[in-house]
Amino acid sequence: MEQKKFCHFCGNSLTRKHTEGRQRPYCNHCSRPIYENPVPATCLVVVNPSNEILLVKRSVEPQKGQWCLPGGFMELGESPSHGALRELKEETGLTGQIKSLLGVSSSASMQYHSILMIGYLITSFKGRPEAGDDADAIGWFAFDRLPPVAFSSHQDFIYGHFGQ
Ligand SMILES: [Zn+2]
Repeated sequence: MEQKKFCHFCGNSLTRKHTEGRQRPYCNHCSRPIYENPVPATCLVVVNPSNEILLVKRSVEPQKGQWCLPGGFMELGESPSHGALRELKEETGLTGQIKSLLGVSSSASMQYHSILMIGYLITSFKGRPEAGDDADAIGWFAFDRLPPVAFSSHQDFIYGHFGQ
């Protein structure tokens, strides 16, 4: 896991200091801790009328070459549902409507330490799926013929929805 070395407010080197219950990066120049928090991201279980799930094959790290659900990081100022639908459009070309929230979980990340993952179900959408940003293939898969899915949080949302 990489550690932040410099204060993003003033550029000074960071030290570490025990404050508010845990070791945190600390800037002596600003006299304040640099808080680190999970990064919110969304993913989408998109199901077609044949009850197949839409997966994208990742063209970028992490997990390059593996299949996963469409989704990605929320941008500043957007709502979780808006971020999810934006990612759906960017990665698959589909315009979708959110049917329901599947759940919220946290998962480990090498780059961001931990990610807050928000899963949505989509059963209503327009367009033909085409691999877009961060993907070099896209496909519909029956639940009993899924390829290995890259992220455990994505697996959990898929199994949570279909495995009952
Ligand atoms: Zn500083």
